Amino acid sequence: MERRPARIDALAPGLRRRLIPPDPRRVDLREAERIVAGGRGIAGPEGIALLQELADLLGAALGASRVAVDLGWLPWERQIGQSGRSVAPRLYLACGISGASQHLAGIRGAGTIIAVNTDRSAPIFSVAHLGVVGDWREVVTALLERLAARGEARGLSR
Ligand SMILES: Cc1cc2nc3c(=O)[nH]c(=O)nc-3n(C[C@H](O)[C@H](O)[C@H](O)COP(=O)(O)OP(=O)(O)OC[C@H]3O[C@@H](n4cnc5c(N)ncnc54)[C@H](O)[C@@H]3O)c2cc1C
Repeated sequence: MERRPARIDALAPGLRRRLIPPDPRRVDLREAERIVAGGRGIAGPEGIALLQELADLLGAALGASRVAVDLGWLPWERQIGQSGRSVAPRLYLACGISGASQHLAGIRGAGTIIAVNTDRSAPIFSVAHLGVVGDWREVVTALLERLAARGEARGLSR
């Protein structure tokens, strides 16, 4: 029997192809286009819930430092770094992560890195393209409000 590769447009003329992006909550971190990550500074599971809210609005996957994983806030497959995943998102937002060398080893392939940390001398700022010295909760809450307002404005203008 002769085998020939089938072309979808030959089988169904006029059919328009559309790539369906993977669900950011389930995507393998190595494939994620955007990642919102939390470290010890987010201080617990409530912090993870707030980060998840932001991640959902940005269509981002949630990642973590090893400490956050060791403390049980997120499962191992969400760990980024030398002993976790090496990632290459277009956007990496690090909240309450100091930027230890073992963590930075996992984000070498990242495009734009944004870091939020209360300690202006945190090593994460040495690799960040945009750094915010401040409390991650205040920054994320302000971002959520802005994104919600934009969403509402879009809804009103429809
Ligand atoms: C062999 C080996 C392998 C390792 N592999 C990995 C790995 O794969 N991945 C990894 O991440 N680590 C790894 N580590 C651990 C690494 O050395 C660090 O201990 C870890 O990355 C630190 O995690 P962290 O940044 O969450 O915590 P910390 O270093 O404790 O940093 C917490 C940060 O949060 C900031 N902060 C506190 N409160 C706030 C606030 N309200 N708002 C904003 N910022 C705040 C602090 O200023 C601080 O910078 C490895 C270590 C070893 C020895």
